Amino acid sequence: MTYQPGWHFVQVPGPTNVPQRVLRAIDMPPIDHRGPEFAKLTLGIFEGLKRVFKTSEGEVVIYASSGSGAWEAAIENALSPGDKVLMFETGQFAVLWHQMAERLGLDAEFVPGDWRHPIDPAFVEARLSEDRDHTIKAVMAVHNETSTGIMSDIAAIRRAIDAAHHPALLMVDTVSSLASIDYRHDEWGVDVTVAGSQKGLMLPPGLGFNAISKKALAAAAKSGCRRSYFSWADQLSQNRDGFFPQTPATTLLYGLRESLKMLEEEGLENVFARHRRHAEATRRAVGAWGLELQCLDPAAYSPTVTTIRVPADHDADAFRATALEHFNISLGAGLGKLKGRVFRIGHLGDFNDLMLAGALAGVQMALGVHGIPHGEDGVSAALTYLESVAKAAAQPPAYA
Ligand code: PLP
Repeated sequence: MTYQPGWHFVQVPGPTNVPQRVLRAIDMPPIDHRGPEFAKLTLGIFEGLKRVFKTSEGEVVIYASSGSGAWEAAIENALSPGDKVLMFETGQFAVLWHQMAERLGLDAEFVPGDWRHPIDPAFVEARLSEDRDHTIKAVMAVHNETSTGIMSDIAAIRRAIDAAHHPALLMVDTVSSLASIDYRHDEWGVDVTVAGSQKGLMLPPGLGFNAISKKALAAAAKSGCRRSYFSWADQLSQNRDGFFPQTPATTLLYGLRESLKMLEEEGLENVFARHRRHAEATRRAVGAWGLELQCLDPAAYSPTVTTIRVPADHDADAFRATALEHFNISLGAGLGKLKGRVFRIGHLGDFNDLMLAGALAGVQMALGVHGIPHGEDGVSAALTYLESVAKAAAQPPAYA
């Protein structure tokens, strides 16, 4: 492999670009994780994280794990083997969380889906209303299904659970939505929120998070699942003083302190608007190329990742290889049953209009090189939209 000059476009939907500020913050020797300097670092981080999860009543724990570890922590703490739970097939990450639930001994009812639509809150209400004995212990939803680019409406799922007067816990995967898409742990009555470091939080992979409601903590006190490393009780007993029961990922925590600062400087609402803008611009490009989105419900279009189908006589993985070879851009692969059928453009994390313009230009040229029939106006459709948003936001000059 020869040196490829210039910027490598990492357009997979996570890990995302790690900004220079975060890279510099991480570039530190590890410190004593039982010393006073460390406690100062972490107590501020827990407070900052709570603002990102939008919880003031809940607790947040941090694991040295990827998002899958945080999935496992959620199950092992809140539930017991044999518990019935309701899960929804929105794509490959839902499939994997379901597989984990079964491996850990849950009795998981997996509501079939076509990988093109979000979770149906009306179904949730009907299914829970039928469950008069309250045998279902948790509703487990993937907020933003990274494989299909489909976002489910967590507030509506909360309303469905309430309308059925059902006590099930609500557990939500926000691995590809936290810090990029509007999310409200307390307001939406979520009991366990699962997240990871390598997407909206703009860090390298390696940290997993759970935000935990009081109801989930009470459930954990009675849960019969075996757990050790992931025990919330062990974490929380030491986190209160700024410490961890095990050796924490010290350098990533320095990075997390910086990324939380950056999110606050930009303002979470602005971060969300930026992600919506880039997703809309990307969809305009896809429309002008004449390609088809995987998501069929416009209300469920993901603000962080767009999943695009290739014509049936083309292989999306071969197309991705062409894009990488000629334009130094990594596009997301089709996962699970979508392998070879779709490619994904991640537009999340530390990302701006011109980075998106470059990424879309790379995709458009790669479509041409690879011989996938497409309209030539994709990039300009995206640019016209980005420009119109910038114009609308521009203040009239003072002399006008
Ligand atoms: N859930 C979602 C929605 C994801 O996108 C991912 C990974 O991309 C995971 C869970 C698993 O996280 P990890 O790969 O960090 O273990």
